[in-house]
Amino acid sequence: MELLKGKPVADRIDEELKIISSGMEPLKLVVYLVGTDASSEVYSRSKVKKGERVGVEVVLRRFPKGAAQDEIEVQLNKDSNDPEVHGIMIERPLPEGIRINDLMRRVPPSKDVEGLHPENYGLLGMGKPRFIPPTPLGALLLILHYGLKPDGMDVVIIGRSLNVGKPLAALLSRKAPWGNATVTLAHTGTQDLLRHTRGADMLITAAGRPGLIKGNMIKEGAVLVDLGITPTDKGIVGDIDLGSVQDVAKAATPTPGGTGPVTVSSMFLNLFRARIMAGPLDIGFTDELIGTVYQNREAIRW
Ligand code: NAD
Repeated sequence: MELLKGKPVADRIDEELKIISSGMEPLKLVVYLVGTDASSEVYSRSKVKKGERVGVEVVLRRFPKGAAQDEIEVQLNKDSNDPEVHGIMIERPLPEGIRINDLMRRVPPSKDVEGLHPENYGLLGMGKPRFIPPTPLGALLLILHYGLKPDGMDVVIIGRSLNVGKPLAALLSRKAPWGNATVTLAHTGTQDLLRHTRGADMLITAAGRPGLIKGNMIKEGAVLVDLGITPTDKGIVGDIDLGSVQDVAKAATPTPGGTGPVTVSSMFLNLFRARIMAGPLDIGFTDELIGTVYQNREAIRW
């Protein structure tokens, strides 16, 4: 079984972004961090580090657990109107009482590097994505990097969340060189999960259930992409029991070291895309892989 490691894919994206950033004024990403969630702390620190790597200034806007909604919204308005801020993202989970939808409404679609603004979500659903949410984008780039074109495959996705499963299903079923798959979206309401997983040429899991997928649940020669991340005493674990699938699957992502690193780079890719969209800037993406998914500059000005 081939291990589909994320680092070479993340490195390839980062290299491309570093080249672009060396020829322009530094980009600025603002990350909202409300409360003291431990995973959010880790994720936001990894963004600061990645920013240093690709030449982006990452500003953390910290708010205490008891911060008022208004206080956060006032700051969001400032960042939204600041031409020197190119992208805004809000770390989740948020403390109870903070309304994410009201915060998201303050983020202009042109700075929505998470691709979750209703306008961007609608464009994606219409097959004209402006920003692809980072986790699905990373999964796509990883699959394509390893030459595993989903075209014509039966793909099963487990998990129907707004930021992972649903956009991934829309993207992979799209009539595009990197789509064209027949997609099944499974979830907790699925009656016979086994029937679906056993028929999948490609199985993508985003359930957050450690060890959900075992070797006897998959098709011989299947490609497995694990997006699940569950922190345990033994470290981070995915949804796929890698030991049990290794004699059956053709290829699988490890956890950690699989899709995670590509997600962070994909968010930065969206930031650069935001800047290219804001124009004028003559440098687009030259990397063939990124170009395949995001096409040219014109496609985003729709
Ligand atoms: P979520 O927690 O909002 O939802 C989980 C989904 O999985 C639901 O749609 C549910 O119906 C489905 N599900 C759960 N158990 C199932 C089962 N036994 N059978 C069938 N379906 C089942 O989802 P999320 O926010 O997309 O997160 C899912 C996982 O992905 C988590 O582990 C999260 O940490 C991880 N995640 C990873 C990345 C990444 O970059 N790799 C990014 C975001 C989230």
